[in-house]
Amino acid sequence: MNITIISTGTELLRGAVVNTNLAEMGKRLLAIAAPVRRALIAGDSRLELVNALASAVHEADVLILSGGLGPTEDDVTRDTVAEFFGLKLLRDNHLADGLRRMYRRRHGAGPIPKGLFRQADVPEGAEVLPNADGSAPGLYLAVTYGGRNVDVFLLPGPPNELIPMFENCVLPRIAGDGSCRTLQLFVEGVGELEIESRLREAGCVAERAYCAIPGGTRLFLSGSEAVLADSRKRVEALWGDAVCDAEDQAHSCIARLAAKGLTLGLAESCTGGMISEMITAVPGASTVFSGGIVAYSNEVKKNVLQISPDILEKHGAVSEPCAAAMAEGAAKILQVPLAGAVTGIAGPGGGTPEKPVGLVWIAVTFCGKTVTRECHFRGGRETVRRRTAAALFTLIREQLAEAPL
Ligand code: ATP
Ligand code: MG
Repeated sequence: MNITIISTGTELLRGAVVNTNLAEMGKRLLAIAAPVRRALIAGDSRLELVNALASAVHEADVLILSGGLGPTEDDVTRDTVAEFFGLKLLRDNHLADGLRRMYRRRHGAGPIPKGLFRQADVPEGAEVLPNADGSAPGLYLAVTYGGRNVDVFLLPGPPNELIPMFENCVLPRIAGDGSCRTLQLFVEGVGELEIESRLREAGCVAERAYCAIPGGTRLFLSGSEAVLADSRKRVEALWGDAVCDAEDQAHSCIARLAAKGLTLGLAESCTGGMISEMITAVPGASTVFSGGIVAYSNEVKKNVLQISPDILEKHGAVSEPCAAAMAEGAAKILQVPLAGAVTGIAGPGGGTPEKPVGLVWIAVTFCGKTVTRECHFRGGRETVRRRTAAALFTLIREQLAEAPL
């Protein structure tokens, strides 16, 4: 089945808005083993949209368009699609009444802008997809084009409107055929090339796709249920504890902590709270995450984390003893059995020959035992910070694996 998505919006081409709708729909379709084949972006003009439709319609079985259903002049999707497929637009009085009521509720009495009712225009034969979160309804059209059947969905652009409509009205009509399933695993600390070659050697027959992200590789496997069960065994035999049913390190860290009933605390210097943010972005983080202390300055390291001034004077803030003391301070103050700490020089300034940019010390203290690791990262400030987070997650995983819990 060829599923093609056409996202509309000049702001997407300019980089002013990230195409999260594509990513969200793509993920959900992959999960039902109906992956997106092709995606196009069309600016807000009839010509751009007609070109995108013409290019997609010959191959697509399912065509999903997002955006451009609103009341303003730049919202051209409904009219352009109707014209493209030779369908008349008919005003739906029921929808028009609903829009009128909504407008009165929000804006009171007074003249209603004409454009509002464009959202009540429905191409002949189309089914209206209700929008509980906004004014523009979605539309579903089953059309024949060049002798082929194409299911066309028009969805609103705002993500908070598109996602529920996609889940309620689109996904159920695209259910995969059931014979092919997908499995997503995360292999921590292993690169995509190594995964590819070792799975090939191991005779893994599932169809495979890889996505390298900081800290590891996302592995997408597809095939029959039996093939997936066999592939999972092979992946686990190769990488054991580094394999997790998760999206990334933050998800896998939380899953591991939850499985062991442990709580985590952090002390972050060069990452400034980034690791805490990665953890708290995961739903359910509260069951395992106690909190984080952003100890950026030496004063906070001394006054909040209670690091002895001696350590800072003798070794400096970016040092093994300081990282260890930060982790131990966090464990004590946050009253957690497991605490992680990072302190480093993210750059671009601040490096010296002894302590160059990219030097990061990380530490984990777990049930009274503290381990440290010296890291040297290349790359700009953001890369160094991301790699720091990845390295801390790895050290936490290693310490958990060693624990007799
Ligand atoms: P509206 O009634 O708000 O005009 P619409 O269906 O016409 O809805 P658009 O005008 O295309 O939709 O987009 C509305 C909002 O949704 C904009 O803020 C836009 O940046 C955002 N948006 C549109 N497409 C996407 C996308 N693919 N990913 C993320 N956000 C998007
Ligand atoms: Mg719009």
